[in-house]
Amino acid sequence: MSTIFGKIIRKEIPATIVYEDDQALAFEDLHAAAPFHVLVIPKKEIVNVGSLTPEDAALVGHVLWVCQKVAKDAGFSDFRVVTNSGAGAGQSVFHLHFHVLAGRSLSWPPG
Ligand code: 5GP
Repeated sequence: MSTIFGKIIRKEIPATIVYEDDQALAFEDLHAAAPFHVLVIPKKEIVNVGSLTPEDAALVGHVLWVCQKVAKDAGFSDFRVVTNSGAGAGQSVFHLHFHVLAGRSLSWPPG
């Protein structure tokens, strides 16, 4: 099922895109929770980590590579990559995405 992120992939709604290739897209979060807050998604419509299959392994590895690239390209060597899998874990958009957060002190554990 397509989501708002599907619309961003298809350029039907605007987003501030910081990286794109044939498999992945990275864009600024609309409601930034840190000075640097980018969402990295596969273009393939995968719901969340909980729905991954072994066939997705290489794609998810690539998406994680994009996560570190966008952080480092923005000048951050320290950053957090986090993903919520399921509504009870805080997921609100049901297209797999990794939040990349940087630019402020990040406490642990998250809320
Ligand atoms: P989740 O809560 O599913 O882990 O994260 C979804 C994220 O998507 C939230 O941080 C929210 O701010 C962001 N978001 C929701 N709708 C849009 C949108 O239309 N554009 C952008 N750039 N981000 C969005």
